Amino acid sequence: MSSSNTMTGACFCGNVTYDVINVNAETLDGIICHCKSCQRLHTMVSYNVALDKDQLRLTKGEPKMYEDFHADSGKRIVRFFCGDCGSALYSYPDSMPDKVFAKAGSLDQLERVIPKVEIFVERVINGTTREAKARETTLFEGMMAKQLS
Ligand SMILES: [Zn+2]
Ligand SMILES: [Zn+2]
Repeated sequence: MSSSNTMTGACFCGNVTYDVINVNAETLDGIICHCKSCQRLHTMVSYNVALDKDQLRLTKGEPKMYEDFHADSGKRIVRFFCGDCGSALYSYPDSMPDKVFAKAGSLDQLERVIPKVEIFVERVINGTTREAKARETTLFEGMMAKQLS
């Protein structure tokens, strides 16, 4: 494997940074989420990478935390973001207690993230459905409740 097994991430202003350790693959699977929370928080979709909880280590700063009880999954999601610039950084969904979802856009090595699945596509904002097909991702209603493609 040629790529480093450590990746780095940061918020827009750089006050919060983190490392992703023990990356044992050349690429990481990107998960695009169309849920209502992600639409409100991220204006269209959120683009995430699922990691084991202990793979993510803060290296600088202290992000703010928001407990999201409005998720379409019905389970709490603890969302972390920079209190200075507002960038979303990562979240811990109660539905997957051993996972952390890093916001792909906060990663420095974005070329290593490949879109793989899209969830809550029944909520997709007008204009993104055809783009989703072009991405050749696997589409799901809900949190992978029903596979569409
Ligand atoms: Zn910031
Ligand atoms: Zn979402």
